[in-house]
Amino acid sequence: MSLFDNRFASKNAAQARAWAMNSEERARDNSSSQRRHEPAAPKMGICDKCHKEALLRSYRSRQTDVVDGAASFGVVIKHLCEDCAPKSRREKDAEVPQLSNKQVKNLMRSAKKGLL
Ligand SMILES: [Zn+2]
Repeated sequence: MSLFDNRFASKNAAQARAWAMNSEERARDNSSSQRRHEPAAPKMGICDKCHKEALLRSYRSRQTDVVDGAASFGVVIKHLCEDCAPKSRREKDAEVPQLSNKQVKNLMRSAKKGLL
């Protein structure tokens, strides 16, 4: 063990303390900043599964293709309406804020004008 190692270790500890303080602050901040960082807000569009116009959410699904004996792995983004949404994601769904009736009407109006 060299002097450098000791200094490195104590610097790391200081950084860890600083990080802990930061994450505490982030947790306190969360209620106000959550909305801005919410990526899963429903959007108007055509459902990939039933092809109806509805409020859609994005779902990542892993896909494995085998072409000529070689397997390829990929993540496919699907846009699904409430009816087609995978039920196993219900806990995630609960985190998504519900739109009010007024917001839904606004979205429908925008969609009809072709703004979305
Ligand atoms: Zn659907």
